[in-house]
Amino acid sequence: MLPPAVGRGPFPTPVGPVQRYRCPSCHQEIFFRNTACLACGIQLLFDPDRGFSDMAETGHPCANRGQINCNWSADEPGALCLSCQHTTVVPDLSVPANIDRWERIETVKRPLILMLHRLGLPLFDEAGMPVPRFELKGETGDATAPRVLTGHAEGTITLNIAEADDAERERIRAEMNEPYRTLTGHLRHEVAHHYWDVLTEARQDRLETLRAIFGDDRQDYGAALQAHYAEGAPPDWAESYISAYATAHPWEDFAETWAHVFHLLDGLETAQAFGLKAPQAMPEGLERLVREPMPHLAQAWVELTIALNAVNEAMGHETFYPFVLAPPVVAKQEAIRSLIVEANSGDAAVAPSGNALPR
Ligand SMILES: [Zn+2]
Ligand SMILES: [Zn+2]
Ligand SMILES: [Zn+2]
Repeated sequence: MLPPAVGRGPFPTPVGPVQRYRCPSCHQEIFFRNTACLACGIQLLFDPDRGFSDMAETGHPCANRGQINCNWSADEPGALCLSCQHTTVVPDLSVPANIDRWERIETVKRPLILMLHRLGLPLFDEAGMPVPRFELKGETGDATAPRVLTGHAEGTITLNIAEADDAERERIRAEMNEPYRTLTGHLRHEVAHHYWDVLTEARQDRLETLRAIFGDDRQDYGAALQAHYAEGAPPDWAESYISAYATAHPWEDFAETWAHVFHLLDGLETAQAFGLKAPQAMPEGLERLVREPMPHLAQAWVELTIALNAVNEAMGHETFYPFVLAPPVVAKQEAIRSLIVEANSGDAAVAPSGNALPR
């Protein structure tokens, strides 16, 4: 079992006022990951379009509910929910700790799938198969076996399940000298690579726009990464990049920046749901927020993060948001926001078949 959830954003209506989640029966506050209402005890079922319902009255539980406490609904008895469908490889469950790792990862993945769904980003390919696919793999302990590297290739996101262990992830964070390393951040980063492919497939105009902003992605990816790990980022990277790693290659800049667009939108929407308003007028709800110009969103986000950084410091915690949004970074975020809005405005994108590079 996981520790108590933090509250998530609004009830997922297409466009509408922000709400926090409430039990459909007794109307007490519930958390996004709850399988049951702690007040009245009903079993809860979540549908990405309709929100929470009483499982006794409607719907079918996801087939993974019993194993990993997935609280989403499935279309038919014995089927997987929208989120679990996207996991095509689950960890080796003969390793006892892996069920908990799998549960942790899926608990973080469901809000991401919901966000992609609400933003209108495609979740299925031309053949109707779920994409991106998530492969959750652990090291086998066999020294001759290839290492499990977290990354993306051709619509498949591989996640090393050791990242679900807080102590291990913190060890890697310190070793890599990163200010922030979370499962949520990993997943947001990796789906960005997939959507670069999907949204530029057969769209040379979009590709040219991204290349003009993030750089020419045809430069050798493997060599660029090697050079990054050997030499590090340029000393002045923070003037135009969100992270040191973003300097490694245009694809990494795009993925790092995309992740921060998601942090910002989800962070702002969650703050709105709990009554933390930006001083400037701001529409409510993800579907409206994403249509605001990025400089406006960034201003609100910076003000919110300054406040939350101070609250965290008062508690002796690590900095809540240890990043600087320099104007060139906001311009890149605006390009990503525009891409998402444009992709949602009609011409449905489907997954591409090319681009075999793992990244
Ligand atoms: Zn209740
Ligand atoms: Zn599920
Ligand atoms: Zn990457």
